[in-house]
Amino acid sequence: MPLIPLRPVMEAAMKHGYAQGAFNVNAVAQAKAVIEVHEMFRSPAILQGADLANGFMGGCTDFAHASLENKKIGAKNIAAAVRKYGENSPIPIVLHLDHGRDFDSCVAAIEGGYTSVMIDGSSLPFEENVELTREVVRYAHARGVSVEGELGVLAGVEDHVFAENSTYTNPLAAVEFFKKTGVDALAISYGTMHGASKGKNVKLRKEIAIAIRECLNHEGIFGALVSHGSSTVPQYIVDEINVLGGCLSNAHGISIEELKAAIPCGINKINVDTDIRLAVTRNMKEYFAACPQKRTSSSVGPIYDLLEAKREQFDPRVFLPPIMDTVMYGKIPDQDVADIVDCVERGVKEVVGTLIVEFGSFGRAPLVEQTGLEEMARRYKNA
Ligand SMILES: [Zn+2]
Repeated sequence: MPLIPLRPVMEAAMKHGYAQGAFNVNAVAQAKAVIEVHEMFRSPAILQGADLANGFMGGCTDFAHASLENKKIGAKNIAAAVRKYGENSPIPIVLHLDHGRDFDSCVAAIEGGYTSVMIDGSSLPFEENVELTREVVRYAHARGVSVEGELGVLAGVEDHVFAENSTYTNPLAAVEFFKKTGVDALAISYGTMHGASKGKNVKLRKEIAIAIRECLNHEGIFGALVSHGSSTVPQYIVDEINVLGGCLSNAHGISIEELKAAIPCGINKINVDTDIRLAVTRNMKEYFAACPQKRTSSSVGPIYDLLEAKREQFDPRVFLPPIMDTVMYGKIPDQDVADIVDCVERGVKEVVGTLIVEFGSFGRAPLVEQTGLEEMARRYKNA
């Protein structure tokens, strides 16, 4: 089936009381694996490309400085991969832009084939955030594309998103934000944090989600609440990376128990990126440890060199530039590259499979209404 917007997937999650993991992808192999593992569990799927992931998929290995042109090409590449593996899939699939930084980035994603976008105006004053978000909603909804906004500030680092301290979302401001912008979903700040160093034993301020949900229900406003920075940072994977020569210190995530407890409080979309990065990095390190002769392979040897040179890193985008044709187009020129692709796919499936089960989205694919972009555009217009 064709890709669908976020809205119907969130409607089903809210109605039936589960959450939907949203998983970041930076390479064709990751998109393929995310879709396959969701199919295995008959779960709806949300794949996310971050703004800078689009830059990376557009061929910019120095992705922190990706141009709008890179992002346009990358959005098309990600969308092409998701369509290739998703269009004949029996499950509903959403391709969502994560942390769109400005109007142009959102337009680039939508033109590339994204069916949902996030506009992150959380660093702006409230009224300017409303103004920017409203502008994106107007453009996106006319095309049947769903929109996620953000209010409140999460601490931590994620691509170009950085904040020293967090500012919790004010529930009443969140309701006002939904009213003024018409967004479908809102990322709230309630104790989660971007990156792999979230601190030990994080407790989420679940009352913030509850208050927003209650007020929205009371006023009859639709709105899905999104938990960003929600990687669990499995300690066993961190340990395995360090045993294999990695230098990850102070790596802690949000516990599965805390995340699950947030779901009945009104959280219906849970974003996970770091866990996938960790599992893929561990698999590649394991591969080169088990097959030392591959360290000098002409095609994947340079990946080993990067893993060795950047031991404190765990972002596959740092290690995969030697095989950009594989990253961007899924090309597999030889067996060594096929082995690395296998490392990527297994890493994705290990992490994502676990979370599909924990968040309760398994078996829910038939509950999602098959609303295509055109029909969604009509629905938005009539609302
Ligand atoms: Zn985020």
